[in-house]
Amino acid sequence: MTDPEDLAERVREGDLRIHELEEHADYDTAAHARRLLVERETGAELESIGDYAFPAEQADPNIENMIGAAQVPMGVVGPVPVAGGAADGEHYLPLATTEGALLASVNRGLSVIRSAGGADARVTKNGMTRAPVFRVAGVVEAAETVEWVEDNFEALREAAESTTSHGELLDIEPYVVGDSVYLRFAYDTKDAMGMNMATIATGEACELVEAETPASLVALSGNLCSDKKPAAVNAVEGRGRSVTADVLLPGELVEDSLHTTADAIAEANTRKNLIGSAKAGSLGFNAHAANVVGAAFLATGQDEAQVVEAANTITTMDAREREDGTTDLYASVSLASLEVGTVGGGTKLPTQAEALDILGIRGGGDPPGSNADALAEIIAVGALAGELSLLGALSSRHLASAHEDLGR
Ligand code: NAP
Repeated sequence: MTDPEDLAERVREGDLRIHELEEHADYDTAAHARRLLVERETGAELESIGDYAFPAEQADPNIENMIGAAQVPMGVVGPVPVAGGAADGEHYLPLATTEGALLASVNRGLSVIRSAGGADARVTKNGMTRAPVFRVAGVVEAAETVEWVEDNFEALREAAESTTSHGELLDIEPYVVGDSVYLRFAYDTKDAMGMNMATIATGEACELVEAETPASLVALSGNLCSDKKPAAVNAVEGRGRSVTADVLLPGELVEDSLHTTADAIAEANTRKNLIGSAKAGSLGFNAHAANVVGAAFLATGQDEAQVVEAANTITTMDAREREDGTTDLYASVSLASLEVGTVGGGTKLPTQAEALDILGIRGGGDPPGSNADALAEIIAVGALAGELSLLGALSSRHLASAHEDLGR
């Protein structure tokens, strides 16, 4: 067996490069050699980073220059009944985070939702997007290119879908800015988050656009997609799954469980999530949806940089008067661009795959796409619980004391 000390020394001497170690040893030995190198260069002890629980080779599609694993504590919240288009029944939701009090808060919200009989959730739109940018001479060529694309959707669909057995091209939305043409391709990527799938398929379609029009491809992503940046296009048009969850809470339940009233929560939501966010110029009109999305993404192997897209969630809370004069609370969250998958990316890694097992949606769904839809719906209900709990705490004014009680 190759000695990790030897390998580390060869990298130090410049005989080997740090990313070449897997060519000279098995993956775990290569990671060990890198740790030794980094320990010597920095004086840091990497015992915990090296104490990971899966064969390093299994992470090869997910990481380069591996030295070990970052372990983030994982807990569960729930169970909560979700009546979704794809998700059905009671679910524990695994969440990985370092923010103390987060799971306690979400669990409190879920317990209130459970007492109300559960939440409804639906995926209302589904389309992973990639928007290449082309150069043309000017507006005349831009119009010619757009017209050709509109007239030849079928040929473009055939080209794009030739690269994937699951992906389906749904739409191409053209945008023209002077001598730049952007084509926003949208795909149903079934149970995959779909960013690689959509990129490969769009690359194939771009070859046809270049062959048949005056347009020249400048970049396969022209940022109108828009991936991993806060962008109004995602909030308006959607990206990945657009998913909404809602619940109607009886007024007595709000008072008994959240120690506040439907009117107080509705007012807090209007003044904070709606007016405050508008004044701030925020794209997100919610309290902390990204908290649940981020923790669920880490637990289930999603691409964590895409939490930014989910942060544009809109939360609504309305007091609804009943005939007997009492007031119920209608609460909803709408996540316009939640990018999730149950195949591909980080979902195959052992802890993340086990987390998907907790939800019963690991791998491809039957029919394809149903597992990713279910994941989106369950995360949306988790986000709804987080919103209810935080707004309840704010409107009953015990947010600071809750953190103090938990010592965080
Ligand atoms: P992927 O792992 O590249 O592709 C998903 C694969 O799963 C496809 O090969 C697909 O096969 C297969 N598959 C099997 N069963 C499926 C089912 N039921 N539904 C859908 N697909 C099924 O993953 P991806 O979701 O396309 O991309 C996610 C990765 O892209 C993440 O690692 C993310 O970090 C990364 N990413 C890439 C970019 C980029 O620009 N390339 C940008 C951001 C993130 P077929 O295609 O043959 O059907």
